[in-house]
Amino acid sequence: MQTNFSLAALADPAMQASEKILRTCVHCGFCTATCPTYLELGDELDSPRGRIYLIKKMFESGEAATKEVVTHVDRCLSCLSCMTTCPSGVHYMHLVDHARAHIEATYKRPFHQKLMRGLLANLLPYPKRFRAAIFASVLARPLKPLVEKLPVLGKQLGAMLALAPKAVPNRSSMEGPANFPAKGAKKGRVALLSGCAQPVLAPEINEATIRVLTRLGVEVVLPKNEGCCGALVHHMGHEKASHAQAAKLIDAWTVEIEQGLDAIIITASGCGTTIKDYGFMFRDDPAYAAKAAKVSSLAKDITEYLATLDLTPTLQTGMTVAYHSACSMQHGQKITDAPKTVLKALGFKVKDVPEGHICCGSAGTYNMLQPEISGRLRARKTKNIARLSPDVVATGNLGCISQIGLGFEERQLSLKSQQSVPVVHTIQLVDWALGGEKPAKLG
Ligand code: SF4
Ligand code: SF4
Repeated sequence: MQTNFSLAALADPAMQASEKILRTCVHCGFCTATCPTYLELGDELDSPRGRIYLIKKMFESGEAATKEVVTHVDRCLSCLSCMTTCPSGVHYMHLVDHARAHIEATYKRPFHQKLMRGLLANLLPYPKRFRAAIFASVLARPLKPLVEKLPVLGKQLGAMLALAPKAVPNRSSMEGPANFPAKGAKKGRVALLSGCAQPVLAPEINEATIRVLTRLGVEVVLPKNEGCCGALVHHMGHEKASHAQAAKLIDAWTVEIEQGLDAIIITASGCGTTIKDYGFMFRDDPAYAAKAAKVSSLAKDITEYLATLDLTPTLQTGMTVAYHSACSMQHGQKITDAPKTVLKALGFKVKDVPEGHICCGSAGTYNMLQPEISGRLRARKTKNIARLSPDVVATGNLGCISQIGLGFEERQLSLKSQQSVPVVHTIQLVDWALGGEKPAKLG
């Protein structure tokens, strides 16, 4: 694609990088066929190609973002399905990240949008605040029908209440900072990302991960001064906040890297995609570029790491698993086989979900900020999973677990059906098959 940037604009390294990306797009439109928002809305401006045009126009003009650009970029899930499809290798992720940062810097959002986005950005990345918010949402849940009728933010707040758990989860006894020694002969040493929302909503995921790794002879460290990886605010265009959160995490891990680490293990693929991109995020920062690149090179999804180890099941469950590959797993990190290979090695029958490349509509905070489109994608995903009649759904991202779980609740209500399928993290099935706890959702 031809571009028309001024020399002054190209003096900015971020603009230079975006111009390079724009020039690789050949307008072929193959990406539209796999873009969830285009499939649902049928508007070219809600397709990758349409958004690329809008972003190009915005950057070339050097002007503030317009309402039109913001509307269509906000509707993008950042699912990155377009990157998997694109034959020209257009790095849409870096382009849309830059566009979001430009929008936040130049566009004056209406007050209610600012309020909602501010609320999410200031609650979710902080476990103590998030736990308090969950407590409030449990109390407010009976008011959901009234909340949904509010003329402003009713749908968004209703979506938040629908996604929140019905009770405040118990705190884990395995929270960091901590060191969990390997059992038997030590084969490795890894750091595990505790995460921010995940240990509050589903502490059983980190617990299962620690049990599995230590049982396999791997020492697990939960470093001091860990925090959120910055992915959540990064996708909202809050560049400064996301870099600050990422830098804090890089510092925490660097201390452990200096003592010898084989990998940094991540159990939320949304976080994994961002952490593997730290090298790019900090490429122009002399203080962090090398440390960030090192962290990115060590980052591994738990299933990537497990696929390198010997796994012998102690239990044959005979269960049929519908494996839902999160977008951040298959499109963001290009991990497609490892989770299924691990599950199969442990005796599970694994089935692929029809239309598996299409997002479930979770996408970080998307299901709260864009509840209508997200709800349509959720229904589409659960319908596709139900066609497999699985015993359980496994996935590697907490957002998808909540989203698909809600999808099955809605499906039960709308179809008055008894069919509900438990949704768990892949590592919980691995832990169970290796002699650990049966996931509570399986009864
Ligand atoms: S598939 Fe790639 S090259 Fe073709 S329009 Fe989409 S982004 Fe551009
Ligand atoms: S990231 Fe997903 S929603 Fe956004 S343009 Fe690409 S395919 Fe469409």
